[in-house]
Amino acid sequence: MERNEIMVIYGEDILAMTKKICEEAKLAERIPAGAKIGLKPNLVVAARPETGATTHAEILEGCIQYLQEHGQKDITIIEGSWVGDQTSRAFKVVGYDKLSRKYNVSLFDTKYDKYERRSYGGVTMEISKTALDLDFLISMPVLKGHCQTIVTGALKNMKGILSDREKRHFHSMGLHKPIAYLNKIYPAHFILGDGICGDLDFEEGGNPVQMNRIFCGLDPVLVDTYICQTMGYEPTDIPYIRIANEIGVGSIDLKPENIIELNKDTSKVKPTSSRKVARLAKNVREKDACSACYANLIQACARLDDRGLLGWLNKTPICIGQGYRGESGTNPGIGNCTRAFDTHCAGCPPKTPEILAYLEEYISRG
Ligand code: SF4
Repeated sequence: MERNEIMVIYGEDILAMTKKICEEAKLAERIPAGAKIGLKPNLVVAARPETGATTHAEILEGCIQYLQEHGQKDITIIEGSWVGDQTSRAFKVVGYDKLSRKYNVSLFDTKYDKYERRSYGGVTMEISKTALDLDFLISMPVLKGHCQTIVTGALKNMKGILSDREKRHFHSMGLHKPIAYLNKIYPAHFILGDGICGDLDFEEGGNPVQMNRIFCGLDPVLVDTYICQTMGYEPTDIPYIRIANEIGVGSIDLKPENIIELNKDTSKVKPTSSRKVARLAKNVREKDACSACYANLIQACARLDDRGLLGWLNKTPICIGQGYRGESGTNPGIGNCTRAFDTHCAGCPPKTPEILAYLEEYISRG
C-alpha cells in the first residue's frame, strides 16, 4: 500500500478482517524489529463499541496477534479518555484489560504520565512522554460523527495522547487548528480504522450505523478524507482536515482508483437500536440489502436530513437490496440490484457521495 492509497475490508468477523488487512497492507514490513509499538484506540468514554463510540477489542486483538506472529514483543495500548471519564474504567468496559492479560501487552493511561511541551506554528502543547518515546504508533480511530467537528477520525484521535489540561486548552482554541498542528508535531505511523458501527453524529455514541468495514492508510489526512466521503461530507467542510492538508500533514486528494477494496460486503442489514437511524430509514424499502450498501444510503439520508430534503422522500420511498433484482419500479433505486428500475444509482455498493448526488438530482426533478 502506498501513501496515496486507502485499503478497505468488509465483513463481520472483525478479528479475521483485521489480520487480513494488516497482512495485505504489509504492516509488519513497515515496523523496525524490536520497536516499541503503541496501539492508540478511541476510548473517549467508557462505553461498549456497539454504541458507536469506541474501538472494538477484536481489532486490537487481531492487530496484536498479527504483530506477535511477526515477532514484535513490545506492544502497549495507550489512551487517555476525555476529561471527565476514567481511562481505566474504559479499558475494563471495552475489554482491553482481558487483552492485556491474554497477550501480555501493557495498558497505559496517558492521564497519569509525564508530558513534554512541543510547538508548531506558535502553538505549544503538552504531549504524553510515553507516546513520544514510542518507535511506531498505530492509531485506531472510529469512523463516526462529532457534535463540534462534524466528523472524527485519524487526526482527532491523536488528542488522546495529550494531558487533560491540554485537552481543555484545545477546546479553548476552537479544536481545529490545534488538532491539525498536533498531527504536524506527531503523526501516527499507520492508521487502522474501525468502521464497524460508528456513531452518526456524536463521539460518545448512541446512534450506531452498522457499516461493517475496517480500513487502513499511512496518511491521516487521506484517511479522514475517506471518512468524510463515507459520511457524505467534503473534507474541505471540516476545518481541521483543511488545515492539516494546507500545512502538509497529508493530502485530501483521494482518487477513487486509490481506494483498494479487498472484498465485497455480503453481510445483511440488522435491525437498528437507534431511533435516529430508524427515522432516517423510514422511507427506505430494504429487501436483502448488503449492510455496506445500506450504511452508505443511511449516511446519504443523514446529509439529506441536514439539508431539509429528507421529508421529500415521503412521496417516493427509496428501494435497496438484492430482493429487487430483476424487478422493475418507478421509485428511486440504490445499487445495481435495482438496475431494472426506471432510475437507479449504479454501483455495488454505490458510495455515499454517489447516492447523495443521485438523490439530490432525483429530488430536484420534483
Ligand atoms: S447493489 Fe445489491 S449486491 Fe451490491 S452491495 Fe448493494 S445490495 Fe449488495
